[in-house]
Amino acid sequence: GMIHISSGNEKVILLCFCTESPSPTETDEEDEDIFNKILKVNKDSSQFLQEGDIVPRRSRSAINCRQCNWPQSSDGIVRIPYELDPAYEESHVKGIHDAMAEFEALTCINFVKRKAERDYLSIRSADGCWSNYGRVGGGQTVSVMKGGCMWKGVIQHELEHALGFLHEHSRSDRDKHVKIMWEYISPPDRPDFKKFENSNNLDLPYDYSSVMHYGPYTFSNTTGKATIVPIPDRSVHIGQRQGMSNLDVAKINKLYNCSRCSTILDGPSGSLRSANYPRNYSDNTNCVWLIRTRSRKVSLHFQAFQLQITKGCQGDYVKVYDGSSKSSPVLMDKTCGSKIPNGIVASSNLMLVEFTTDGAQTASGFQATFTAGKKEKLRNYVCYFAVSTNIKQS
Ligand SMILES: [Zn+2]
Repeated sequence: GMIHISSGNEKVILLCFCTESPSPTETDEEDEDIFNKILKVNKDSSQFLQEGDIVPRRSRSAINCRQCNWPQSSDGIVRIPYELDPAYEESHVKGIHDAMAEFEALTCINFVKRKAERDYLSIRSADGCWSNYGRVGGGQTVSVMKGGCMWKGVIQHELEHALGFLHEHSRSDRDKHVKIMWEYISPPDRPDFKKFENSNNLDLPYDYSSVMHYGPYTFSNTTGKATIVPIPDRSVHIGQRQGMSNLDVAKINKLYNCSRCSTILDGPSGSLRSANYPRNYSDNTNCVWLIRTRSRKVSLHFQAFQLQITKGCQGDYVKVYDGSSKSSPVLMDKTCGSKIPNGIVASSNLMLVEFTTDGAQTASGFQATFTAGKKEKLRNYVCYFAVSTNIKQS
C-alpha cells in the first residue's frame, strides 16, 4: 500500500510491502523420507551398520527369522518388554509412546515396561537411529537418538526391525516392482541393496509406501539420480513420511497371527462405515480406524447410525478417541442406538474410531466422513516500510 501524508510544503510517502515468508513449521523436514532422516543421522554413527540402520547379526543366515519372533501370550497379545534411556526427557518419552501406541491400536503387538523379562528392548539415545533385526535374546538396543530420530515414522521403522522386518526393497520379489540403479550406487554401498532370496513375504503385496522402504535417492552418488525406480510406473511415490502403512500393519498382523480388524485412513478426507453397511454388521467384531491426516485437526461427521441399544451401550458401540490409541482421551464415549451423533473434532491430525459388537442382535451400523478440518492460519507476513520525503521548493 502507499500512504501520502502532506503537511504544508512537506510530503511524506510511506510505502508498505507485505510478502509471505516461509512458515516456521518443519514442512521441509516433514516432506523428507523417513529413511533419509535415518541416514542423515547415522552418517556420524560409530556403530557398524548394514543397509544403513541394521546391526549385523552374529549368524547371518537367519533371514527367515522364525525363531527370532517375539512370543505370543495365550490371549493372543505379543508383549514386548522395553526399557527407556533415563536420558530421555518428557517430550521424547511421549514421542516414543505415541509411536508404540499405533502398534497397540492396530496390531496385537504391545510394548510393555520391562519387569524382569530376560529378552527385552533397551531403547536408548545412542549414536544414531538403528536396531537389530528380530529378537536377539537378552537386552537388545534400539537406538533412537534424541536429536534426529524423534519422528514417529523413524521410531516405528526401528521397532519394526526389532519385530523381525527387513527393508521392503530387500524382498525376494523386488525386481518385479523396482529397478535398482546400480550405476548411481558407489561400490561400498552396493551391499545395502542386497536382495534376500528367501525373505518371508507373507503372501502380501510389495508396498511402495511401507515405512520400511528406502527413499528413491537413498545412497545415491549422483545428485538428482534415483537409486530405486518403481517399475513399470516410475511416478509411483516410494518411501514414507507419516508412519506405518496399511500393508505394514497387515504384515505385522500376519507374521504374529494377530486377529485384528484395523484400517489406517491417511487421505486428506474420506469415509468409513461398519462392515456390510447398509446391510447388518456381524456379531462379535471389533474394528478400529486410525484417521491420520497430514496436518490440522481431524473432524468426523456421521451420516448414518443404527446400532443395537443396550444399557450404557455395553453391547454394541462406537467410541472415538482423541489420538492414535485406546489410551488417548475419549472424544465420544460408547454410543449406541439410532440417534446420529454430533460432529467430532480432534485436537490434532489423529483420531481413532472403535466399533465393537457383542454376540446379540445386529443392525445396519454406521457411516461417517472425515476431513482434515479448516486450514489454520500459518502464514507469516513480513512487512517492510519505506519512507520517502520530498520538500517542496517555495
Ligand atoms: Zn532400516
